[in-house]
Amino acid sequence: MPQQAEIFSKNTQGYDLHTHSTASDGSLTPQELIDTAIDYGITHLALSDHDTLKGFEIASEHLAKQSSDLQLVPSVEFSSRWNALSNIDSEDDGRGMTVHIVALNIDPKSTSIQKLIGATQSARNERNERLKIKFIKKGWQDVINLAEELSSGATLTRTHIANAMLTLDKVSKYGQAFSRYLGSGKPLSVHTKWPSISETVDGINKSGGTAVLAHPLHYQLTRKKLLQLCSDFKKAGGQAIEVITGNPDKKAIENLTGIALRQNLAASVGSDFHAPRNGKIHLGVPQVLPLALTPVWEIW
Ligand code: AMP
Ligand code: MN
Ligand code: MN
Ligand code: MN
Repeated sequence: MPQQAEIFSKNTQGYDLHTHSTASDGSLTPQELIDTAIDYGITHLALSDHDTLKGFEIASEHLAKQSSDLQLVPSVEFSSRWNALSNIDSEDDGRGMTVHIVALNIDPKSTSIQKLIGATQSARNERNERLKIKFIKKGWQDVINLAEELSSGATLTRTHIANAMLTLDKVSKYGQAFSRYLGSGKPLSVHTKWPSISETVDGINKSGGTAVLAHPLHYQLTRKKLLQLCSDFKKAGGQAIEVITGNPDKKAIENLTGIALRQNLAASVGSDFHAPRNGKIHLGVPQVLPLALTPVWEIW
């Protein structure tokens, strides 16, 4: 018999629409991620590496050789710039703040998605050059060398830099790398000229995909500002927000459900899996979506 909660909710079992591999800042190879997803009974998986489809291509080839019904959803997590009309939070330095947009169900071969990947990677490369200069000036060339080694030719992200700082004892905990040095407004942060929300959403829509605002509560915005972000995202053509991201509590799900309903946005779910925690791989989401919401896969 279904549990009471399930009667009033939409099943998310088998869905994980936000994960990472070694093609960006994840620790499993695309092949290992596919094998794990099959092992865990995932039915719909999005490999959403930052600014690249390289991992997706490798994962697709690997999946084709397995006898599995796993649906691999073509996906990319794009970094994007939100220029709010008013600056009422600390993350916005007046030049816009970074938000992440997960593109789902895109045509990986479309010109528009290739162009958007190119533009986002150019912004990242230019940002990384300025970031490297800051580290070298501080006498931390060794951090950059190790971060580049850790990324081994894939997209170089602040995750690699934070891991290198931890390995080289510049910080005692991974999170400290962001709270002390790399986070917005900290001494080793640099502004990135990511494509705007409308450029990003437009590129995703033109490739036949669905634009999903990633982890809305990570931006630590006031409620008023978060509603403004979701409204701007919707006006730009965005179709969904992540209502279940990582392992949220009931309050977070209720909060995001209210916003999705108010803005008439569909709901996505994903672990945002990067690396095992305490030796455990967390794929899929244990929570269910409230019945009132439209799961993003129902609009495909
Ligand atoms: P980048 O795209 O190079 O700016 O790096 C962003 C990545 O760093 C995100 O995708 C996260 O994986 C990670 N990250 C960002 N902020 C934090 C934080 N405060 N704590 C832990 N990881 C973070
Ligand atoms: Mn990441
Ligand atoms: Mn993200
Ligand atoms: Mn992510």
